Amino acid sequence: MIPKRTFDAVIVGGGGAGLRAALQLARADLKVAVLSKVFPTRSHTVSAQGGITAALGNVTEDHWHWHMYDTVKGSDYLGDQDAIELMCRNAASAVYELEHMGLPFSRLEGGRNAGRIYQRPFGGQSQRYGGEQAVRTCAAADRTGHALLHTLYQRNIAARTQFFDEFFALDLVRDAEGYILGVVALEIETGEAWLIEARATLLATGGAARVFRHSTNALINTGDGLGMALRAGLPLEDMEFWQFHPTGIPEVGCLMTEACRGEGGYLVNRQGERFMPRYAPHAQDLASRDVVSRAIAEEIEAGRGCGEHGDHVCLKLDHLGAALIQERLPGIRDLSIRFAGVDPVHEAIPVTPTVHYMMGGIPTNLHGQVVAPVRYGPEEPVPGLYAAGECACVSVHGANRLGGNSLLDLVVFGRAAGEHMIEYLRENRYPRALPRSGVERALERLARWDRPGGDERVPRLREDMQRILQRHCGVYRREDLLEEGIGKLDAVGARLADAAIEDRGRLFNTARLEALELENLLPVARATLVCALARAESRGAHAREDYPARDDDHWLRHSLYFLAGDQLDYKPVRLKPLTVEPFQPKERSY
Ligand SMILES: Cc1cc2nc3c(=O)[nH]c(=O)nc-3n(C[C@H](O)[C@H](O)[C@H](O)COP(=O)(O)OP(=O)(O)OC[C@H]3O[C@@H](n4cnc5c(N)ncnc54)[C@H](O)[C@@H]3O)c2cc1C
Repeated sequence: MIPKRTFDAVIVGGGGAGLRAALQLARADLKVAVLSKVFPTRSHTVSAQGGITAALGNVTEDHWHWHMYDTVKGSDYLGDQDAIELMCRNAASAVYELEHMGLPFSRLEGGRNAGRIYQRPFGGQSQRYGGEQAVRTCAAADRTGHALLHTLYQRNIAARTQFFDEFFALDLVRDAEGYILGVVALEIETGEAWLIEARATLLATGGAARVFRHSTNALINTGDGLGMALRAGLPLEDMEFWQFHPTGIPEVGCLMTEACRGEGGYLVNRQGERFMPRYAPHAQDLASRDVVSRAIAEEIEAGRGCGEHGDHVCLKLDHLGAALIQERLPGIRDLSIRFAGVDPVHEAIPVTPTVHYMMGGIPTNLHGQVVAPVRYGPEEPVPGLYAAGECACVSVHGANRLGGNSLLDLVVFGRAAGEHMIEYLRENRYPRALPRSGVERALERLARWDRPGGDERVPRLREDMQRILQRHCGVYRREDLLEEGIGKLDAVGARLADAAIEDRGRLFNTARLEALELENLLPVARATLVCALARAESRGAHAREDYPARDDDHWLRHSLYFLAGDQLDYKPVRLKPLTVEPFQPKERSY
């Protein structure tokens, strides 16, 4: 047997969601371990730029119910309204809690609210249910995620959370009755496998946009938690919905935050025309991200793209002046100079829609408990297993996420999961017997990469997969393209059996990590294509050329994908909020 450590709870992931949940548990004097494959403050949360949305009303009059309306509409009515109510109603307290923990928010200057948290306009946000633009997104310059993650990390150190830095979780350990009893993990430095036993396990492994060729995401966003859930026989929800952020730097993928447009920047085409008013007369450049991304794709398609190849549009900030750019968007200026070779104080930045965020994920309820249908009956919680953050689908973002709502999702549902885990641990005081088989399966995954194989190599397979997703599952999708994509992905999957790594050493073997990550990316890619092919309608980020309309009669429902036999199942959208009247689906325009 491998070495074992025992905790009350284990959290896989040291990003915003994992750290917020861990803090709840550690402050309740429980023994909690956080595993992270990179040093926690290097998690992707650190790169969140624009802000965290909450109806504080510091700049314009505001109400959480207006935020809720915008989020439901932004989700193209696929978001579950009970979860959205919970998130928007708790947003202000979650932000004040972060402020009191020491998060250094930017501050308003002058006026009645001088000194209060700075807020900026963001896409898809309105006052009074679709009226004037709301100013709702709380920011620490353009480094909000950096400030948030470091604050949470420091609080966890103070609360004595135990960190396992650079530990790579391989698989969940599940017993015959379906209880999750912890994880098997690889210590990256030594190459040694550990069993981390716990009565409650939370997956907070973040996004998986590395299934695509061009993404704004960190290299580590490989959907490991999703792979672990699928291999444990659990489904993934709504995997056809991937957000393309309108403004990534072409080829590089580096994000130019929506805050650029929030601060007054706008998009122009080859003719220098500000084109968004043609697509979204009211919200213009601050329409929802799916709307802006499709507008850019159409401009490029119509031959109005910029540059030698006409393959991008431009983001103009120069009219804002050097002082404002330096104060509110300093990181953007640095990134633009470094990665696009353009100083936004003087020139427009080249941008193109770039994969940014996964709306789908591991299905959970409002307490962060992972839920799965029981033999195709109604869903039930999986005992001992939780998920929060981008890897989870609760679902507050539905078919399209609004900017600033992910950081909010992390802290609201990270905290909710932590609270429920405390209750669960009180009710389940004693450890259950560990099944040998669960551990052995994980070790077999490791051993597989110790064996010599054929000529196939992991980086090549990964690149082929990324090109397939980029080409066959882009901003616009079509039946024949998706079918062809699935065929090509099958071929990549078949080649995996023959793949090997050249470095079979134990210490800090990054080739082995990349192989293990590929085993998680491939089923995520597959789930994406299979769900996208099945959904014969256009909704939010899922735009089908062959089914351009939204079809509520047939498709106002969530997709569930199971690895075994590529099976699909569906579940209804929860249209009933907790305390307020539902927002009925209607046509969405900005
Ligand atoms: C460039 C960029 C800018 C963004 N800006 C904003 C913004 O302004 N506002 C907003 O609301 N949202 C923004 N987002 C989205 C938001 O930042 C993310 O959705 C969110 O931070 C994800 O947090 P998380 O805690 O779920 O996961 P992450 O922060 O991605 O953390 C995942 C953690 O899981 C660990 N992990 C993963 N796999 C394993 C494994 N196998 N074993 C052990 N550990 C593992 C990682 O080490 C890491 O600690 C942005 C995203 C990007 C990419």
